[in-house]
Parts: sequence; structure tokens; C-alpha cells
Amino acid sequence: MRKSSIKLRLTLWYALLMLLMAAVTLAFVTVISSSVANQTTLDSLSQTVRENALQADLEEGELKVDSGFSFYRSGIYTLIYSKSQALLAGQLPQALMSLSLPFENGLTRPVETEQGSYYVMDLWLPSGWEDGIWLRGMTEISQGAEARQNLLIAAGIALPLFILLGALGGWFIVRRALRPLDSINATAAAINEGRDLSARIELGEAPEEFSRLAGNFNRMLERLERAFEAERRFTSDASHELRTPLSVILGACEYSEKFDETGEERQETIQTVHRQGKKMAVLIDQLLQMTRLEQGTEGLRMEELDLSALTEELCREQGEKSEYLKLDILPGVRVRGDRLLLGRLIQNLLDNAYKYGKPGGSVWLRLRRGGGWVQLSVRDEGEGIAPEQQEKIWRRFYQADPSRSGGQGAGLGLAIVEQIARLHGGSMSLESRPGEGSTFTLNLPEAAGEAEEKI
Ligand code: ADP
Repeated sequence: MRKSSIKLRLTLWYALLMLLMAAVTLAFVTVISSSVANQTTLDSLSQTVRENALQADLEEGELKVDSGFSFYRSGIYTLIYSKSQALLAGQLPQALMSLSLPFENGLTRPVETEQGSYYVMDLWLPSGWEDGIWLRGMTEISQGAEARQNLLIAAGIALPLFILLGALGGWFIVRRALRPLDSINATAAAINEGRDLSARIELGEAPEEFSRLAGNFNRMLERLERAFEAERRFTSDASHELRTPLSVILGACEYSEKFDETGEERQETIQTVHRQGKKMAVLIDQLLQMTRLEQGTEGLRMEELDLSALTEELCREQGEKSEYLKLDILPGVRVRGDRLLLGRLIQNLLDNAYKYGKPGGSVWLRLRRGGGWVQLSVRDEGEGIAPEQQEKIWRRFYQADPSRSGGQGAGLGLAIVEQIARLHGGSMSLESRPGEGSTFTLNLPEAAGEAEEKI
């Protein structure tokens, strides 16, 4: 199932959070304001009645009320009763007309009527030993409730508005913040549809996280583009290299069919076909090796092995060419490696030394170790390699002078050599002076525990 978008989820989350906060705040405000309003009502009732008490008096049985006495002020009624509880002055509120509540000095209590709830407070003002008057203050409890209701109505309108505004604002901000993601998405989709790896994400000003993502994405695209380009070049070079001997074979066959008459001429054609066929076989074999090494499908069989013994064994198998070989092999040099691949590497170096060395000249093979590394070098006395070509010869299909390879090989031998060295954690180096010969050296880490200096 597809999850809903980040924008929607974030907006919903904030809206819900705001709603919850608003509800909790409102509940607090309501509870606190109702208790504050209640207290205020009680306080002002008591204050008004006590202030009025200073303004009324009974003088020789006659009621005296000063002008400061307020019978009604801010919702508070004050009435004056005689000792026998008969109303002397003041106006009862409509709701309390039928109220018959015994007087109790200093007591404030709530009274429920059909038209509302009231607080009633009584105060006894004595006059002499026997006489006195009662003051009774009354106020409606619902006064604070009205303000509360107004507050709730205001909140009920304002809060949803704020929440809506917050959610909308959040939605736009998140949308803006996530816009670079759309750009990344669009580029990825364009690459996918058009298969054009040269496209790059252009973000301009963007938050750091997105810039980093776009940077990594662009770097990945660059590597992919390079890899694809190398792959394309490899395929085109490989087919070109295969097509050349194939055209020679086809041309030779056609010519032979039409013009070869004598057995000698046919023999010559067969030799040409044989030579080119061998060239193709070598090329296909090298291509396969190269591809397997690069794709890692060759399956390295790493083991600790005696490189001295492996090299000596290989040299013994060189047949007639071994008479040109001059060996200087330190015994017991051990490395971790794949026996087959290391053998192939040494063989390629020897083949090159025979091919490009001085005809009838010697080939030196030297094995040494020191500083935790092993050096295996193959030196010939050939023409050498020009300085400007020394870097290029490691490339696939590069041949300094194709005519000198004797029709064998297609410039893959050294590329394979370098690849094998790299797979073993080592490297290749070359020393060559034109006219004096070349020395190819393999540097490999020595197998652990064998790092003694013995050069
Ligand atoms: P190939 O031998 O099939 O041409 P390599 O990859 O083995 O391919 O070598 C690449 C090129 O490097 C050769 O074409 C040659 O020009 C040059 N080269 C390799 N080894 C030597 C050497 N020992 N002396 C001089 N040139 C060499």
C-alpha cells in the first residue's frame, strides 16, 4: 500500500496537535475563569453590603439612610429589613419576590430559584441593646457565566480559524521545503525515460540535506556515465578488434576460391586463415578473462602460497624459450593470492618480454622481498617504451606499435596484468628507456609474518 505523502501527514499531525492544545487550554481557561469569577462575585457582594452598612442606621427607632447607600450597584441588590424581618427599604429582584429565607448574620449562601441562582448575604446592624436592622445583599451567580460563555463563543470561532490557518501555512511551508525533492524526482524520471545519463540535478538554493542528496546523486550519475561510456567503448573496441581478423579470413577465402590455383597458393591461404583464427582465439580468451576479472565472476581462490616455487615451476614450463631466461629468485617468498591468476600475470609479462625483447636476447626474472612487500620483476633488452607511451600501455586495446606484437594479442595483456595486481592489493610499475629495454615490476604485500628484510 502506498503511504500518504509527507506533506499530508505533517499537516495533519500539526493540525491535530494544535486542536488538542486548544482543547486543553480552553478547558483550563474555563475551569480557572469560573472559579475566579465566583470568587469575584462573592467578594464584591460582601464589600458592597459592608460599605452600605456604614451608610444606614436606626436612630431612636427610625431608619436613617445616607446618600452614599446604594440599593442597586453592578448587579448587587441591597435591602434593609427590620428586626422582625419586615422589608423597610430597597427593591427585591423579580426572581426573589417569593423568597422566604431566614436571616443569618454574616452568612453568604447560594439560593436556587426558577429564574436563576443567587448569592444571598445577611448582615445584622445592632442599634442599642434591643433593636437593630438587617441588611440583605443579593446578586445573580450567572453574571460570570455570561462572560465565560462569551469567551467560549470567541474561542469557538477563533480557534478553528487559527488551526486552519496553521494547517494551511504548514502545508505551504512543507511543500516549499520539499520542492527540491520534486526536482530530484523529475531528474531521475527523465534519466529513466530518456536513458540520458548526462542529466544532472540543478537545485540552486536548497536546504543542506537536499544539496547533499543532490550532490551524491550527481556524483553517482557521473560514475555511472563513466562506467557506461567505458562499457560502450569496450564493446565497440572488442567488436572492431574481432572484425579485423574476421575480414582478413573472409577476404582470403574469397580470393582463394576465385584465384588460387596451385596447392602452394591454397596452402598460403590456409596459413593466413590459421594465423588470423589463432589471433581471434587469443583475443576471445583475453576478452573473457578481462570480463570475468572485472565482474568478479572469476571467483578468487586466495591462499597463502610460495611465490618462489610458483615462479620457478612456471619458468620450467616455458619450453624452448626457457633458454633465454635468467633467474634470480629468492626462495621461500610467500604471498596471499590466487595461484592461477598470479601464474597468468607472470606468463603475460614473460610473453611480452619475448615478443618485444631483443631477438635472441635474455629475459631476467628477479624475485625479492623487503619492508613487507614482494617485488617480482621481468626485464628485457628490447627497444623499450617511449616515456609518453608508458602510461598508455596499461589501457585496454592500446598497442604502441601493433606490427611488433607479431600478429598476436590486441593490447589486453597488460590491462589484465594490472587488474590481477590490483585484485591482490598490489600494483604494477614500469621502468623503461628506449633502446635499452624495459623492466615490469609487480609489487605485492608479503604474507603476514614473513616481513624480514632480505634484499
Ligand atoms: P599486446 O602485447 O597484445 O599488444 P599488451 O597489453 O601486453 O598487449 O601490451 C600493450 C603494449 O605495450 C604493447 O603493444 C607494446 O607496445 C607495449 N609493451 C608491452 N610490453 C612491452 C615490452 N616488454 N617492451 C616494449 N613494449 C612493450
